[in-house]
Amino acid sequence: MIRLLIIGLLIYLGYRLIRNFIGSAESSQNVDGNGGPREAELIQDPQCGAYFLRQRGVKAEIEGRTVYFCGQDCLNAYIAHLKNGRNGDNRRGEERVS
Ligand SMILES: [Zn+2]
Repeated sequence: MIRLLIIGLLIYLGYRLIRNFIGSAESSQNVDGNGGPREAELIQDPQCGAYFLRQRGVKAEIEGRTVYFCGQDCLNAYIAHLKNGRNGDNRRGEERVS
């Protein structure tokens, strides 16, 4: 029974990976090909919270995800924040309200 579950899960994950791959390939083709409506997509900077057009942002690959920032400074600050969060998590006591 458990074996079946694991096999099913693997098939599902593989299916999702393939779908993501095809999906991203299609969307990038759309942008490159005819410059569709996706071009003027507003996204939020995870560092400062500002909204900006995606093609004007600074693109970065962080932990396997593609993240966009409004500027290089925010990208640097975000990466620095990530590193600080990992090394000294105990310092940030504000988020742990118990
Ligand atoms: Zn920013």
